[in-house]
Amino acid sequence: MATSPIFADESVNEQFPIDQHRRASDWPEATRQLRGSGARRRFLVGSLLVNVAALGIDVAVLDPWHLALAAGLRLLLVTPLVLLALALNRRPADRPLQAVVQAIAVVAFTLSVTAIGQFAPEPFAGRYMMSALFVVFAGALVSALSWRTTKIMTVTATMLYIPIVVSGLHWPPAWTNIDLVGLSLITCVVGLRARRRKEAQIAELVAIRRSDAQLKRELRRANAALERLSATDALTGVFNRRYLDELIEQDTASLVPSLGQSVLMIDVDHFKLFNDCGGHAAGDRCLQQIVAAIRRNLRSCDVVVRYGGEEFAVVLPGLDDAELHETAERLCGAVSDLKIPHPGLGEAAVVTISVGIAPAVPAETLADAIQRADKSLYRAKRGGRNRVGA
Ligand code: GH3
Ligand code: MG
Ligand code: MG
Repeated sequence: MATSPIFADESVNEQFPIDQHRRASDWPEATRQLRGSGARRRFLVGSLLVNVAALGIDVAVLDPWHLALAAGLRLLLVTPLVLLALALNRRPADRPLQAVVQAIAVVAFTLSVTAIGQFAPEPFAGRYMMSALFVVFAGALVSALSWRTTKIMTVTATMLYIPIVVSGLHWPPAWTNIDLVGLSLITCVVGLRARRRKEAQIAELVAIRRSDAQLKRELRRANAALERLSATDALTGVFNRRYLDELIEQDTASLVPSLGQSVLMIDVDHFKLFNDCGGHAAGDRCLQQIVAAIRRNLRSCDVVVRYGGEEFAVVLPGLDDAELHETAERLCGAVSDLKIPHPGLGEAAVVTISVGIAPAVPAETLADAIQRADKSLYRAKRGGRNRVGA
């Protein structure tokens, strides 16, 4: 609990701004996560490594002429495109250009693998063509490009893949791999659907995380409000006895030598009589008016506590003896100036308070200061009420 409060009820009626507004869709954030430059870099580096490593397989299965062609495709077309996409990926301002270059690199990679497959003998040819479909699938799923670019890239790669495998890059067309047409279409659709689903799942995760954070914030606010409420007196809005007890506990437990605290004890004069003659409801209203007058005449750093019944304690930091005395006199005057008629004390009688003061004494505990103020209050009562007792 806070140790340097202002008046307790200043925040009691606060409306907790529980933000019910949640985004209907968290897709933008999800796609940002999905399409981070880190994800694009990983995909491009992976593509680069696979493209170069596959040269080893080309060496093993292709004749020299077709090997030269394959090396040309891999090293002079695909590799520079991937490297360019990687270079552009480092500069956020180039994002649209980066996306286009990366999409072209994926299409070129797919088609070069498909084309090299046309030169390879069986059973390697089929494996090349299947690998090309894998590139299409991976491109759709993990290329980390926007949904629109991914769609265009995947459909373009598939549409160009089909004539290559159908024709076998021969004239007249070989028509031998017609079965791969169906497979490539399935790959295209499944790849795009998988990508869409992944995006939706990430969006869901982002939404859950966001609402989790929101709930935590609301809980913290509610706890703080609850703490304030539990320290507040319902009738007058000042701090309650429970709060003062905590202050006393903290003060007693503190290892730092105290400079002492000035305390005032305030008690309404002849209040039982007021209640007996004017009624309890009028008594309640009277107490509220008195508290309001007291508060108007204190600083925001002074702590007002309803000590019990019609008795209040005030802890006032940083006042010297004269200032404390002056404050006590001011409070007495402020209450009598309210001119609340006292129904039990005759025509002209008004409600008054008596105040006991305890100026700060270094190293004294708050509990002791309260006791001193209580004794001073007793003296004020004995002295005739409506006065300050020292
Ligand atoms: P003294 O001048 O010596 O302080 O006399 P007193 O009558 O004020 O003192 P006493 O302690 O005999 O009576 C206190 C009265 O305060 C008793 C009770 O009726 C009244 N009181 C305490 N709490 C409340 C409250 O919340 N509302 C109202 N209306 N009255 C209260
Ligand atoms: Mg009283
Ligand atoms: Mg009393």
